Amino acid sequence: MRIAISGGTGFIGGHLISYFTQRQDELILISRSDPGKSLPGVRTITWSEIEQDPHNLEGLDAWINLAGASINQRWSETAKRQILASRMKTTAAVANAVSALHNKPPVVINASGMSIYGTSETDTYDEFSPPRLTDFLAEVVEQWEEAADRIAAARVVKVRVGIVLGTDGGAFPKMALPYKLGVGGPIGSGNQWMSWIHIDDMVRLIDTCVRNDEIEGPVNATAPNPVRNREFGEVLAGVLHRPNLFRIPSWVMKGLFGELSVLLLEGQRVLPRKMLEHEFQFAYPVLEEALLDLAGKPGRN
Ligand code: NDP
Repeated sequence: MRIAISGGTGFIGGHLISYFTQRQDELILISRSDPGKSLPGVRTITWSEIEQDPHNLEGLDAWINLAGASINQRWSETAKRQILASRMKTTAAVANAVSALHNKPPVVINASGMSIYGTSETDTYDEFSPPRLTDFLAEVVEQWEEAADRIAAARVVKVRVGIVLGTDGGAFPKMALPYKLGVGGPIGSGNQWMSWIHIDDMVRLIDTCVRNDEIEGPVNATAPNPVRNREFGEVLAGVLHRPNLFRIPSWVMKGLFGELSVLLLEGQRVLPRKMLEHEFQFAYPVLEEALLDLAGKPGRN
């Protein structure tokens, strides 16, 4: 297959590139800058080169767009503008390029987020739940998805990414650190939901969305067993054989992280209804197995 990955230099993109390279797919990495030396079997094109001439993207089998400024920064007004604008600009660039192509990719996978459901300690959401614009990120994701809807590919899949658990990126290394140091504990009330997914399942889920013609529209990329923050801490402490005693109060989180603390203090219970309906087999459906794997320990099965 001939696959383009934009935003592919990041955490999820890096894992996707290893996965597709092992399968000997032909990869085109789309980035803000050309790193100078490409990975074996991977060609890099910059966004500005695509804007000037999109035709070197003729004949793609899929385009996976993961680009966007990191949300893991203090949400100053400038940062908020960049978080939104980077997603709108890159998704519009995908739409423009696809419109200009004679031989369009049959599928575009555009990243999205489960923040579109808003936050709740009581409700459960699947792809049929309507957007709830409760906070800044929910509004960002709604606009991001509207931009994705303007991509003129036969199939557009909007992958609503959950909390991706891996050892080399995303939130997990920072979440695990206090536990490793023996000072881990629940955050805030501990009641907030965490809809997580193991990085290996994330990669396989995207690949399934590329290959399965019946999957389109919003798709939740979360494991089928979300947990509350309290339980996450208990399982993590158990896997690492460390205590889970040191609760971090909400006011400390708000002082440290400002508005960004909403990500840690509030959450949403999201189920991967569409992927389950398509009989996707999660390698890590249960948190303990996922964390044992990330900790390099043998699983229970
Ligand atoms: P990363 O932050 O690791 O990578 C995102 C990529 O986007 C970067 O490699 C970079 O590529 C590009 N990028 C960064 N800043 C900008 C900018 N200002 N303008 C344009 N492009 C930019 O993200 P992840 O791999 O963790 O996630 C991929 C997508 O999934 C992101 O959009 C993220 O919001 C979303 N997501 C991820 C979650 C997670 O748990 N990891 C959870 C929910 C959503 P380059 O430098 O090559 O241009």
